[in-house]
Amino acid sequence: MRPPPPLLLTMLVLAAARPGCEPAWGPEGKAGPPGPGAMCVDLQLQSCSDVAYNRTAFPTLLQHRSRAAVESSSEYILLSVLHHLLEGQCNPDLRLLGCAVLAPRCEGGRVRRPCRHVCGALREACQPAFDAIDMAWPYFLDCGRYFSGPEEDCYDPLEKLRGGLDIEEALPSSHPHTFIQFTHHSYAQMVRVLKRTATRCAHISKTYSIGRSFDGRDLLVIEFSSRPGQHELMEPEVKLIGNIHGNEVAGREMLIYLAQYLCSEYLLGNPRIQRLLNTTRIHLLPSMNPDGYEVAAAEGAGYNGWTSGRQNAQNLDLNRNFPDLTSEYYRLASVRGARSDHIAIPQHYWWGKVAPETKAIMKWMRTIPFVLSASLHGGDLVVSYPFDFSKHPQEEKMFSPTPDEKMFKLLARAYADVHPMMMDRSENRCGGNFLKRGSIINGADWYSFTGGMSDFNYLHSNCFEITVELGCVKFPPEEALYTIWQHNKEPLLNFMEMVHRGIKGMVMDKFGKPVKNARILVKGIRHDITTAPDGDYWRLLPPGAHIVIAQAPGYSKVIKKVIIPARMKRAGRVDFILQQLRTGPQKFLPGSRRGWPGGEPQEPDQDPLGARRQPTTGGSKPWWWSYFTSLGQHQPRWLLKY
Ligand SMILES: [Zn+2]
Repeated sequence: MRPPPPLLLTMLVLAAARPGCEPAWGPEGKAGPPGPGAMCVDLQLQSCSDVAYNRTAFPTLLQHRSRAAVESSSEYILLSVLHHLLEGQCNPDLRLLGCAVLAPRCEGGRVRRPCRHVCGALREACQPAFDAIDMAWPYFLDCGRYFSGPEEDCYDPLEKLRGGLDIEEALPSSHPHTFIQFTHHSYAQMVRVLKRTATRCAHISKTYSIGRSFDGRDLLVIEFSSRPGQHELMEPEVKLIGNIHGNEVAGREMLIYLAQYLCSEYLLGNPRIQRLLNTTRIHLLPSMNPDGYEVAAAEGAGYNGWTSGRQNAQNLDLNRNFPDLTSEYYRLASVRGARSDHIAIPQHYWWGKVAPETKAIMKWMRTIPFVLSASLHGGDLVVSYPFDFSKHPQEEKMFSPTPDEKMFKLLARAYADVHPMMMDRSENRCGGNFLKRGSIINGADWYSFTGGMSDFNYLHSNCFEITVELGCVKFPPEEALYTIWQHNKEPLLNFMEMVHRGIKGMVMDKFGKPVKNARILVKGIRHDITTAPDGDYWRLLPPGAHIVIAQAPGYSKVIKKVIIPARMKRAGRVDFILQQLRTGPQKFLPGSRRGWPGGEPQEPDQDPLGARRQPTTGGSKPWWWSYFTSLGQHQPRWLLKY
């Protein structure tokens, strides 16, 4: 036990001498908490059971004189539900911070205050989350009032949370936000960086989980879009996936850095990043195999064998675990007139072992109309594209192109051509044997395998996915990570921008009603794209003239000729209005009020994911207010901003 510093004692005397009804430790943080003589008692608050200490004292910093008084206070109730109100953002950090005030730490008959700089950093990071739900910053988290500085022997209430590892968090809040830690990230660190990034950029970013790994870790995605949480009409969607093989970790780190980079650059006003995020919805899944990563990370960088941690916790190779639709494709392709796109998952697939990680990706693909994707691997330096499974089952290396061979080559080049190492002309470099091919290769021509994610994307959905091998070392040492980022930043951006190559538009009937699941056919490319539920579509196309046809059951087809220039920043808009074949009673459908055809379609006014986060208007109370009023006499009006 340490004696209280003299400064603190002086302050206590002053505070005690002050007459009147001021709290014992008054505002502006001038007065200290009770000194020697406070009676430490066991901390028994359920919502504070995970704080780093177990003794507290009464009265608390808010003048509550008993445990019952704390438990019935609106401050405590707020802490208990804050996680839900903020949709997980900034928690458990905020709750622990609040606990440090509501159940102050007591040691050796002395109450210790939490540190002001921790409060300040959290407030800066979390203010947007409060703004998003129209809630005022809680008065009892006033950093100047209830927190103190190191000279008063403050402690860090979040220390346990970051295990002393997360340096960035501990930095004073004045540190520039562009600061990215080019280190490896444990699962907990990754989650915290992504959530913090989403909070910092709350107006353009959001995190969500697509499911859990076999060991129960959330497969956390960070999303960037001008309207996070929802699909916007005709805005293409891109996904980038890292760490599908748990021991190939560079991709995981690249996506963690990319998330921070996109957020910071957007805030700084970088025009390229602003244009990208304003016209594209981007989803980053840094780790598809967090369980495998743990196995690999336990061995550490440099010591990792070729396969340790590659598989998931069930010992399944996730990039062999997807349904083999490529065999079915080869069969259908030989049948005249048969469709060989959007191939259904065969029943027998479900009889085998399907990893929860694989299932999560398939479910994700069903809910979002992805157009473009990349899966980031390690162990070589090359970009490969479908098919991965050879058209001749016995041939282990056989060029096996998709009908979109030209486009896939362009996509692969968009990555490789701006990657300084992939463009390095020396043959003895990592991945040097791909030099003559410009560091890109058809997957099956490299080595053939079934059950891969890229083939599945192409054959089951509208999404085009490439595979990037980021370098020869699967688990690079930390010192190498910054250079790897420098090499891959431009390729990643350039690749994502490729989603705007080709055409996009709406398919609708003459009343302006969107036609979902309509087919977009391109002459000479036997692979159809289908429209999303809102009737919008995207067709990646290489430069040149194309005949494009839109058709749907019950409608006559419409044919258009389009010319794609060699350079383009934005997909050309090509809409199709289909005529109904059958005549019969027709209802006036709500879609027609949007005023198509003719005018520009408006964005849908529905907000299924974020409906409850609608800003309040006309002086009405925010949605969460009814929760507090339902509790009776405690109405924390201090949470109301207006
Ligand atoms: Zn791999």
